[in-house]
Amino acid sequence: MVRLSSAPPDPIPAPKRIYRGGGRLDSLPSVTHVPDGSMPDDGSYRLEIRQSGVKIVSGGAEGGRWGAVTLAQYSFMGCGFPVGIIEDAPTYPYRGLLFDCSRTFFETDELKTLIDCMSMFKLNRFHWHLTDDQGWRLESEVLPRLTEIGSVRSGSDFGRHHSRISSGGFYTREQVRELIAFARARGVQIVPELDFPGHCSAFLAAYPEFSCSGEPSEVRTAPGIYENVLCPGKDAAIEAVFSLIDETAKLFDGEYLHIGGDEAPDAHWKTCPDCKKRMESLGFTTTGQLRSWFTDLLAERVRKNGKKPICWNDAEPVAKDTAMQYWFGDKDAVRQFAENGGRVILSELPYCYTDYSYAQTPLKKCFSYRPEDFIPRERLLGIEAALWSSYAHDMRRVGFMMYPRAAAIADIAWNGGRVSRETSYAAFRTAFEALTPMFGSIGIVPAKLNRTDPKGPVRVMDFTRFWAENLTPSALASEIKNFRR
Ligand SMILES: [Zn+2]
Repeated sequence: MVRLSSAPPDPIPAPKRIYRGGGRLDSLPSVTHVPDGSMPDDGSYRLEIRQSGVKIVSGGAEGGRWGAVTLAQYSFMGCGFPVGIIEDAPTYPYRGLLFDCSRTFFETDELKTLIDCMSMFKLNRFHWHLTDDQGWRLESEVLPRLTEIGSVRSGSDFGRHHSRISSGGFYTREQVRELIAFARARGVQIVPELDFPGHCSAFLAAYPEFSCSGEPSEVRTAPGIYENVLCPGKDAAIEAVFSLIDETAKLFDGEYLHIGGDEAPDAHWKTCPDCKKRMESLGFTTTGQLRSWFTDLLAERVRKNGKKPICWNDAEPVAKDTAMQYWFGDKDAVRQFAENGGRVILSELPYCYTDYSYAQTPLKKCFSYRPEDFIPRERLLGIEAALWSSYAHDMRRVGFMMYPRAAAIADIAWNGGRVSRETSYAAFRTAFEALTPMFGSIGIVPAKLNRTDPKGPVRVMDFTRFWAENLTPSALASEIKNFRR
């Protein structure tokens, strides 16, 4: 149970400064937006709440929006509006939420609900994971077989969930445009991800000639890491990816395009004559060099299209103007990348992945994450909460897993973990509880707060139950080994 303290709660993310003038307004008087050219146009805003009226002062439209969101949260909380001044500014420019639509296909109305919700927590980048081994979800005019073949799989085998019913789905270009406009109206830019050279079985099912062996492939029915990856030795394969990058960059209006690059085994590259020839011609001695070359090549193509590239850390970019998104693996390499002038987005699995059980990733653990203990602030582009949909097949489950953890990450995105996370955690929980009517209005059911920080035997039981439901016994054994407290 959460007890409301005597002081009414403040919004999430907690505003940086609140100067209380005494008293609260029961209802909102007239609200005016006041542009102030002296303020930065980075989402910062100042709220002046007086009996006579409320002013939202900002250097740009984004700040005006977040100021209005703060008022909306107070309104949902139903405890009135504090008279005084509120000053707020985001710590990081990139404040993301990743959502995987490959393992599970979600309807655009469901995505709208998620975007609605994230914008109420002032997250501003929807990282849309559109392509993976288990389904290609983005309509393409240049490579139509991607959706004809790559968007459908013959069944589903996720842990203990088995189905032999064929399933599929993709987003038409028209639906994508509609979603972009919907997000834009809520201060959210969509960051599309095309994942290459690994995690592209759906792509290779449609165009097997672009793998090393050229052998037929299938859209995968089970999660995993597959050795059949794109062949960077074949010019035609690279041209195909280029054409997708060009097409995707034109379709989306945001500043970023994500080129993936995670979990791509090099087993086939080592024996492929085309890959060997490519390495020889470039003077490479390792497949790691080939990987970095491929990543930089795609990133350059993204830049040519006027967008900024992002890749996963295991893509090993050399070009420093590619933003590196860290999720798991070699931390020293990421530190080195940042020290050499690169910029980093953090979505560390043990803190930012919301598809793991609350036993494994309790809310307090998310909330206590301090990104700047890892990467210095000036090298941090931002932080991102993530939900992979291998084990979240409907919106009920998505809501339960994503919230309140994504709200905790939003708080860090605005506050950088700067204040004592210990003392502010209680305030966060109180505020989250008070926002229940907001979730009701959006149509998302978050986890109850008595479920988010299980302790002792309950935690062990929750942990075991989660993996027992989702994994086979051998995979469960390896997860138990990785169980981090
Ligand atoms: Zn090859």
